[in-house]
Amino acid sequence: MLLYNTLTHRREELVPHTPGEIKMYTCGPTVYHFAHIGNLRTYIMEDALERALRYLGYKVTRAMNITDVGHLTSDADTGEDKMLKGAKREKKTVMEIAKFYTDAFLADCKRLNIKIPEIVVPATSEVGEFVHVIEALLEKGYAYEAGGNIYFDTSKPSQYNPFHTFEEEDLEVGVREGVDEDTNKRNKTDFVLWFTKSKFDDQELKWDSPFGIGYPGWHIECSCISMKHLGEHLDIHCGGVDNVFPHHANEIAQSEAYLGHPWCREWFHVAHLNTSSGKMSKSKGEFLTTELLVSKGYDPMAYRFFCLQSHYRKSLVFTYENLDNAATAYRKLVARIAALSDSGSYNEEEAAPYLAAFREALENDLNTSLAVTALYDVLKAKISDATKRELIRRFDEVLALNLLDAAKKQKEAEQNAAPDIPEELRAKIETLISERAEAKRAKNYAEADRIRALLSEMGVTLKDTPSGTTYTVG
Ligand code: AMP
Ligand code: ZN
Repeated sequence: MLLYNTLTHRREELVPHTPGEIKMYTCGPTVYHFAHIGNLRTYIMEDALERALRYLGYKVTRAMNITDVGHLTSDADTGEDKMLKGAKREKKTVMEIAKFYTDAFLADCKRLNIKIPEIVVPATSEVGEFVHVIEALLEKGYAYEAGGNIYFDTSKPSQYNPFHTFEEEDLEVGVREGVDEDTNKRNKTDFVLWFTKSKFDDQELKWDSPFGIGYPGWHIECSCISMKHLGEHLDIHCGGVDNVFPHHANEIAQSEAYLGHPWCREWFHVAHLNTSSGKMSKSKGEFLTTELLVSKGYDPMAYRFFCLQSHYRKSLVFTYENLDNAATAYRKLVARIAALSDSGSYNEEEAAPYLAAFREALENDLNTSLAVTALYDVLKAKISDATKRELIRRFDEVLALNLLDAAKKQKEAEQNAAPDIPEELRAKIETLISERAEAKRAKNYAEADRIRALLSEMGVTLKDTPSGTTYTVG
């Protein structure tokens, strides 16, 4: 499999440390608020990567942290603790906030068919491990104490920030955006491993440690959780592109200092989902969550489909118009699958070129949009419906769009609603119903009413339900 590697800036053959096995680490959510659909784009594409690796025959072990302590409002150890901020906002304790938003995140994953990694570790459950690694870094001379905090000395590794993607001023962590420079630091890029001197007297979560009572910095948690649960050699590390610097640069610095050898070969980063006015935010503009999309009548699978239609390394603009297009395409796709017959049997020879095209798409830097094209090619192909169904089942192991299930449900609903309608009339009614749904979403109520009246003249009675519109004829 060829994958783009942020470390080398090119696509490279994936070569796991142990042949056939992949150890994969994902930076998990900071659970101070709901995930926005931008965060979820990253998790969807990482999920597609894991599924693709399994499809291609690798044994995958994957771990993810849950950040419930230590992530400040800036990635550069400045600003307020995000968890504390969330607790204040909602007048709850930090642990209540962590539990609520962890559950909300897992529920989002379920709705979007994002497989939860088998190893999920809250940072607060591994503080002993962080202390152990920080002690080792102090002993090896990679860390120092200043003003009560423990810092990583970024002048010590032979190379700091091997990504090289950033301008010198981006490296000036701690002096950005009018934040006071931390005078304890020996180098601008040094970062906190353990805080004892916090600006916040009311920091709720504190632990005793050889360095004093305090709490860990954010970066140390991913290094420690990964090394403890996946071992000394990591094959793939994933995250959103904003994690490259300083977070991943810092992870590499401390992990390699601790281990004394190279740590992770492949760095996989997902580009951002933006709004038409710029960066997606949880505080400004509409807070775009899965729940919001569902409340507006969208099937979460339409959002997953929207993400899969683009390459993970291209930034993507979210608009309702774009989502509507994906929702329509998804509905049509399901309808085409629902129209396939159940008869016949699978033919491997017929399937072979389509399997090859799908595999090639995945092996070509996880090209999910080409993988979706391969799916459409199956539907257009002159092969038996049974072969088509089996190919769709296999492709959906990676795409995870519930295709056969959704098609089955649609077929059953149609049969229950209108058992004796001829196929041609059924197709016409359903097209009109989906045009009416689009008109409603576009707030074009006159058009929606016109379509309803037209259907009524055809003897069709509509019933709007939370899961869509059903109808009866006659
Ligand atoms: P956080 O919960 O803030 O730690 O972020 C969770 C994940 O979402 C990280 O991998 C981020 O890099 C990623 N992320 C943040 N903003 C976006 C965005 N607008 N689009 C895609 N991924 C994002
Ligand atoms: Zn991380």
